[in-house]
Amino acid sequence: SPHSLLLQNPKEAKILVNNKNPNSFTNLIKKQNLNLITKKNLNFTSRIHASAATTQTQIQNQTQTKPDSSDRVFNFAAGPATLPEAVLKKAQSELYTWRGSGMSVMEMSHRGKEFTSIIEKAESDLRTLLDIPTEYSVLFLQGGATTQFASIPLNLCKPDDAVDYVVTGSWGDKAFKEAQKYCKPKLIWSGKSEKYTKIPAFQDLEMSPEAKYLHICANETIHGVEFKEYPVVINGGLLVADMSSNFCSKPVDVSKFGLIYAGAQKNVGPSGVTIVIVRKDLIGNAQEITPVMLDYKIHDDNKSLYNTPPCYCIYMCGLVFDYLLEQGGLVEVEKRNKKKAEILYNAIDESKGFYKCPVEKSVRSLMNVPFTLEKSELEGEFIKEAAKDNMVQLKGHRSVGGMRASIYNAMPLAGVEKLVAFMKDFQARHA
Ligand code: PMP
Repeated sequence: SPHSLLLQNPKEAKILVNNKNPNSFTNLIKKQNLNLITKKNLNFTSRIHASAATTQTQIQNQTQTKPDSSDRVFNFAAGPATLPEAVLKKAQSELYTWRGSGMSVMEMSHRGKEFTSIIEKAESDLRTLLDIPTEYSVLFLQGGATTQFASIPLNLCKPDDAVDYVVTGSWGDKAFKEAQKYCKPKLIWSGKSEKYTKIPAFQDLEMSPEAKYLHICANETIHGVEFKEYPVVINGGLLVADMSSNFCSKPVDVSKFGLIYAGAQKNVGPSGVTIVIVRKDLIGNAQEITPVMLDYKIHDDNKSLYNTPPCYCIYMCGLVFDYLLEQGGLVEVEKRNKKKAEILYNAIDESKGFYKCPVEKSVRSLMNVPFTLEKSELEGEFIKEAAKDNMVQLKGHRSVGGMRASIYNAMPLAGVEKLVAFMKDFQARHA
């Protein structure tokens, strides 16, 4: 390590410092240690402590020159996405040492009492937010929502079991295709021929009586199609939902689902952790070929600590859950999300066709708003000008083109208002 190198061989350390960027963070610290080490009158212990102290001052100085909120852009990315400013600032203030522990959350043992308290509080706050019944387990897993496309059939059915999939967009389609490797999924409805702009009427769904579960994607991130209500599965079958892009954006009656899963990186944290909420009686029946990392029982028995979890991501999700509770919980969050979406969809609908959203009105997503320009040749210009005005990541997914504004929980109303003002101005100049 740099420390031991410095202590054993100051000469060698001097060479290390002499590389290209003398002001790199590493070199600043090495220089500092080197200065200390050459002060021969310092004994070993005081050198180490002095080094730690000066490093801390240095980091504090750096923090003071960090950009503030006026330097931030409105980030309309679909995920990883914008996070609440208050959460980022809290994380910043705790980055170097977490609440008197003497270390960063990134440096903690996942089995220590500090991290145990972090993961337990994150789970407990999420349970409060979503009012998760005690018969459900909450798992913090890795591999993204994509891994769940395989984990779900592996855990909930045998290779010959029938399951149903309703596909309302690209993510549901991916989930359906992955399930084909592990069971016998049937596509009972697809919105593909209508370019994924609709949700089916539930009475028209021909569910298979023997299906182990019905899978839906509650909000299709690319196409901007969102279930406003959920189908009831026949014969007491299970409803399984990918809620990656509308997780914690509104209250949900968890008891209607067998399993809910969501990647964190849209509404509740950074990428790296996937949350699975699963009814406890469904755990423990994984197919024999199930890799240990995909077996819900392993993770449930070990409280999501079977192996090293994504500790920092879980900590960040915990900060977001705490923040959402402080904001008044999901009823309040939904109100704000509805208001933001209404302003944006109104601007599109009132543009006399200059802007268009292809999605059927009753199922438009509160989170991801896709739209096109009647004069499609202006789309590049629209995205470029918006970016210049600090509104970034408005380009639609490469598979559908056009624009997409993702307006997750953490997108402030001011961001949507600014976008709408820009859209009106752009229209006035180009209509
Ligand atoms: N489902 C939905 C609805 C998504 O939006 C995404 C990611 N954008 C995924 C699944 C895949 O998630 P991940 O990248 O975490 O595997």
